[in-house]
Amino acid sequence: MSTALKQSTPEVPVPFYQPTGNEEQLFEVAWQRHLPLLLKGPTGCGKTRFVSHMAAKLGMPLYTVSCHDDLTAADLTGRYLIKGGETVWVDGPLTRAVRNGGICYLDEVVEARKDVTVVLHPLTDDRRLLPLDRTGELLEAPDNFMLVVSYNPGYQNLLKQLKPSTRQRFLAVEFNFPDPDTEADIIMRESGIDAEGARILVRIAGNIRNLAGIDLEEAASTRLLVYCATLLKTGVAFDDAIQAAIIEPLSDDRDIITGLREAIGIIR
Ligand code: ADP
Repeated sequence: MSTALKQSTPEVPVPFYQPTGNEEQLFEVAWQRHLPLLLKGPTGCGKTRFVSHMAAKLGMPLYTVSCHDDLTAADLTGRYLIKGGETVWVDGPLTRAVRNGGICYLDEVVEARKDVTVVLHPLTDDRRLLPLDRTGELLEAPDNFMLVVSYNPGYQNLLKQLKPSTRQRFLAVEFNFPDPDTEADIIMRESGIDAEGARILVRIAGNIRNLAGIDLEEAASTRLLVYCATLLKTGVAFDDAIQAAIIEPLSDDRDIITGLREAIGIIR
């Protein structure tokens, strides 16, 4: 199966997550009221970490699927496979979460094929049903099933927008980069770097995020700052760490890379 699936067990320790607003409260309400949740925001701003944190806090298994443009409904629901000469039905991650209870997280859901939406619709209204056409089953989601999806509205791809009829089935929470103090705390906690180093990285990121006239598809994320801090903590020289963890991942365009280097040089 081409699905990139990770399943964590309820015994996992609660991963560190620094809240930046009322997202924990909204998640808890969605969980209690059996509502699906949509997380919107740029890459690397903590959406996946947030879901792992909440799943562990609730003691629920988490089925994470990284969606990609070949991902079909069958990758989520399941398919017949030949095992030892016999044809057996194997549940996909969504079906497993619906059958057994748990949180199913579809990361970057807009990347998936269109037939995924068809499967999600009856599951995201008050019917909470998962029809399995191939097996003839109609599964009713238990109270301890929750669907969480994420997407990045920043990608300017009209073909890959969530349709309003899908979006309006979810409670939605917007994620963004944390305020500077919170972001510095996250970087320190994640990498072990000192407060001064974390503050410098946050300042650099802030300036890159505000750069006008540089055509970046994505801004420097908290994830990249954590990577950079990790390099610094292991003794990599400052310029090399910035180059490897911030500048190169942001662009392949030599002019933009030069612009970023100059901007960071000025900032320092
Ligand atoms: P996304 O799913 O939005 O692309 P992730 O959840 O994978 O981003 O976050 C990337 C990394 O950034 C995490 O592994 C973590 O190190 C760090 N991070 C970002 N935001 C937070 C936060 N609020 N609390 C803790 N860590 C965070």
